[in-house]
Amino acid sequence: MPEGHTLHALARDLDSAFAGSTPRVTSPQGRFAEGAALLDGHGVLRVEAHGKHLLMAFDHELYLNVHLGLIGSFSVTRFARPLPRQAWDDVPRTGQVRLRLVNETHLADLRGPTLCAVITAQEAATVRGRLGPDPLQPDADPAPAWERIRRSRRAIAELLMDQSIIAGVGNVYRCEVLFRLRLNPFTAGTEVKPASWQAVWDDLVALMPLGVASGRIITVPADVEAARAELAATGRIGAGPRASSVYKRAGQPCPVCGSRIRTQLLAGRSLFWCGRCQRRR
Ligand SMILES: [Zn+2]
Repeated sequence: MPEGHTLHALARDLDSAFAGSTPRVTSPQGRFAEGAALLDGHGVLRVEAHGKHLLMAFDHELYLNVHLGLIGSFSVTRFARPLPRQAWDDVPRTGQVRLRLVNETHLADLRGPTLCAVITAQEAATVRGRLGPDPLQPDADPAPAWERIRRSRRAIAELLMDQSIIAGVGNVYRCEVLFRLRLNPFTAGTEVKPASWQAVWDDLVALMPLGVASGRIITVPADVEAARAELAATGRIGAGPRASSVYKRAGQPCPVCGSRIRTQLLAGRSLFWCGRCQRRR
């Protein structure tokens, strides 16, 4: 499942492709024909992500709300040369395209989303209100997340995946951040120290922008250092390894202590951790 960094990168790409333009909006597959008709012929104001939700604001106070779910994809392609309006309906397509946006410079095709809906400004506010703070939003306030966590008896590893508590964190970031901070994933929210929560939030705030910039989740300390240096020097992060310390490394040696990485289902998702480094205290 795409995590928040993927949605923020997508929002950035869709915003730069379509904000300020009036794209043709269609549903080649037909399943979103009515929704597409509500948006077609209207200007795009901006595109933003909140957690794993995408919100595209149009100039008649309607929003396109997309959640990719497990298998959805939203591809953004730049045309080699400007495409005249009369050719916007003739761009070839492959597969089941739920929603298509075309303007003079770009094409975007949405396939297989969990959610694709046209909503009002009030409903968009409700979508945002249901989600916890998003570490990728510069002005995000982590306090509401902490208020929920410190009152909950659920495991911290489960709480970090609850989008109503903190938005955008998926399985990879939660496993890796808990390992980076040597926190036991089964610690109840009520047992988490304020400083530990602050460290989790700060680490997500530091790591997730590297994911937006690179398109991959970077959490291994040496890779984080290299990515930061590259970003500072060049303003971007190029291709590199897709490495993790514990995620999907069950049975392999922990990179810190050498004991075997463990795995277990927690709230329906596979958790990975080091039983020695992340021992209960
Ligand atoms: Zn270890």
